[in-house]
Amino acid sequence: MSTQRTNLFDFDFEALQAYLETMGEKPYRAKQLMQWMYQRNVIAFDDMSDISKTLRARLKNEACMDLPAVQQEMLSTDGTCKWLFELHDGNRIETVYIPEANRGTLCISSQVGCALDCSFCATGRQGFNRNLSVSEIIGQLWLAVNMLASNPKTKDQRITNVVMMGMGEPLLNYSKLVPSLNLMLDDRSYGLSKRRVTVSTSGVVPAMDRLTADVDVSLAVSLHAPNNALRDELVPINKKYPIKELMDACWRYINTGDRKKRVLFEYVMLAGVNDQPAQARELVSLLRDFPGKVNLIPFNPFELSGYKRSSNASVARFTKILTDGGILTLTRTTRGDDIDAACGQLAGDITDRSKRYIRFAEPRFGEQFQ
Ligand code: SAH
Ligand code: SF4
Repeated sequence: MSTQRTNLFDFDFEALQAYLETMGEKPYRAKQLMQWMYQRNVIAFDDMSDISKTLRARLKNEACMDLPAVQQEMLSTDGTCKWLFELHDGNRIETVYIPEANRGTLCISSQVGCALDCSFCATGRQGFNRNLSVSEIIGQLWLAVNMLASNPKTKDQRITNVVMMGMGEPLLNYSKLVPSLNLMLDDRSYGLSKRRVTVSTSGVVPAMDRLTADVDVSLAVSLHAPNNALRDELVPINKKYPIKELMDACWRYINTGDRKKRVLFEYVMLAGVNDQPAQARELVSLLRDFPGKVNLIPFNPFELSGYKRSSNASVARFTKILTDGGILTLTRTTRGDDIDAACGQLAGDITDRSKRYIRFAEPRFGEQFQ
C-alpha cells in the first residue's frame, strides 16, 4: 500500500538528504532525486537512469512519489486556469493559474478550508477541515507545471510567481509551509526568486516572526480595515492580534535581512463597509510611513455572503485618496470570474463538514501552529 511508504514529495532537500542517509546512501543522491522529480518531472523510479539499480529497487519498495489526483481542469476565457485536485482522503482543493503579460502566477492552497472565519471569504465560511501535507502543497505546483505543459492551449505558459493565496491560512500550517517554500526557492527544484514567492496572511503575528527568521520570501498581509473596530468584524483574528501588533510584526519583517522589502497590504473593497473616504484617510495615516503598497481587491461575491462589491467609482475615489497620501496603490483585476476562480471564491469540497464546529473547542490561532 502506497500510503505506508515514505512520500518523497513530503521532503525538502535537507529532509530528503536525511532520509537517504538513513538508507546508508550518499547525500548527493538527494540532489539527483530532486532534479528528476522537479526539473525533469519524472515520478517513476525506473526512469531515473543515473540512480543505481539497487537504490531504485529499495526506493520502489519503501518510498513513493504520490501527488493529488487531477479531478477537473477549467480554462477561463481570459486564460486563467483552475484545477480541482482530489486528495487521498477524498477532500478537494483548488489551485489557480493567472497568466499576465510578463509573468504567470500560481495561487496555491495551504489548508482544506480555513478556521479563521473572515466574514467575506467563501473558504472561511466553509470551515476548517485539515492542513495540507508538503506533498499536497508542492504537488499543486508540480501538477500545474505539468498540466499547463500537456494542454496544447497552455503549453507555452510558464509559472514565474507563486502566491500562497488559495484556500487556507498558510501560517497556521507552518511546519508544512516552510519545506514547501524551500522547494519553491531551491535551485535543485524550482529555483523561484524570493521576490516571486509570496505568503499571504491574515496576521498570525507569532508565526509571521517565525517566518521572517526561517525563510526569506515576500509578504502580503490581509488588512481589509484601517481600524480595530472594523477589522475585528471582518478579520476576527484581529481580536487576538490587533493592528498595532500586526504593524510591529510587519516592521520586524522589513528590518530583517539586507534586501529592500515591501509588504503588500490586501484590502477587499466591500460596498458601504470599508470603502468610504474617511476610511481611506485613516488608511493613509496608518500606512504613510511604512514601506508597503496597497492592493485593493474588488469583493468577489458568493452565495449568502451578505456583502456587495464596491462600485468602480468608490474604488477610484478610494485609490485617489491613498495615492494623494503617498501610498502606492493597485487594484487587482478580477480574473477567472466565469470559472469561480477569483480571490475568495475557492471552496474546494470538504468531506466532513461537521469538523467546522470542532474548532471552537480547540486552542485558536497562535497556539495551533507547531
Ligand atoms: N488566508 C490568507 C490567504 C488566502 S486568501 C489571507 O487571508 O491572507 C487571499 C486573499 O483573498 C486575502 O487577502 C483574502 O482576504 C482575500 N479574499 C478572501 N475572500 C475574498 C472575496 N470574497 N473577495 C475578494 N477577496 C477575498
Ligand atoms: Fe482564512 Fe484568509 Fe479566508 Fe480569512 S481570508 S477565512 S484567513 S482564507
